[in-house]
Amino acid sequence: MNTRPQHWIEVTISCPEEALEAVSNFLFENGASGTEERPGVLAGFFPQPADPENLAAILLPYLRILNDLGFEVGEPEFRIVPREDWGESWRQHFKPIQATPNILIKPPWETVETESTIVIDIMPRMAFGTGSHETTRLCLSLMEGVLKPGQSVLDLGSGSGILAVAAVRLGAERVTAVDIDPDAIDNLYENADLNGVEDRIDIRLGSLEAVAGERFDLILANLHRKALEQIFLLFPDHIHPESRLILSGILDTEERLIEEMLGRADMLVLAKRRLGEWLGYLTGIRKGPTPRIRDSATRAVPMPVESATTAGRG
Ligand code: SAM
Repeated sequence: MNTRPQHWIEVTISCPEEALEAVSNFLFENGASGTEERPGVLAGFFPQPADPENLAAILLPYLRILNDLGFEVGEPEFRIVPREDWGESWRQHFKPIQATPNILIKPPWETVETESTIVIDIMPRMAFGTGSHETTRLCLSLMEGVLKPGQSVLDLGSGSGILAVAAVRLGAERVTAVDIDPDAIDNLYENADLNGVEDRIDIRLGSLEAVAGERFDLILANLHRKALEQIFLLFPDHIHPESRLILSGILDTEERLIEEMLGRADMLVLAKRRLGEWLGYLTGIRKGPTPRIRDSATRAVPMPVESATTAGRG
């Protein structure tokens, strides 16, 4: 289990528009919990025990390569952010987000005129999941397409609880949300309450062990690729033949690794979507004598790949 970080490291890097995505992905791959685009600057947030010296040792060689390639990226600057200042920092930057044509995410202090059928309030704190990140939006749009009223849903790595709240709004009967981060769990309680769905979400601290012996119609797992790989082989204990699994947190450079992992588990890719450099997968258990997925060139079912432009992150 994670303990609560007492402080966070904020890294700011002056960065041209065309390098923002790459630098942001690099920060995520190296442990950032969130990034934020400011005019001409990218900020990344790392939880304790990250320390500026180690981060500089990781970042500097990468930023030098970008400079050698002609991108004018500045030196990183580090600042310690006490945990009590964190929410305030996010608050200033969190604006309503049209996550899908039907789902609008907004901070509770904003009122918005909208035609969206689902409006979700998210109080920005330390947890991931304000709707601005591509992976969250990929999960929301894939879930909209498959979740049927009355189904059971597991939100694995629920962060702010944004996907769990959306699942309730989309008609799920039973939603269980788990996260290994106590701060995320606090934020999830708060957001469930804000949206009036506190009695509809079963909230638990932990990972798959927190749902031992339980199976779900739909599992949402927006996790870092390495975390997914560590727990992926445990998923069969939590699904049935008709279950669907939505995965994100995967960079397009990791496409092959993820599809090989799915193939080894006899999971079929039913749909694949791309947003910016991120991928989202809808998968299900292979049935019958269909060939297993070996790599992205030999797929058992047609895979619609849908792309869209990226609108922001955080
Ligand atoms: N579901 C939210 C969304 O889509 O915006 C948050 C996703 S965030 C990328 C990943 C979350 O998974 C973090 O809150 C992290 O603490 C949690 N996490 C990481 N590894 C996990 C694991 N093995 N089991 C459960 N939660 C995990």
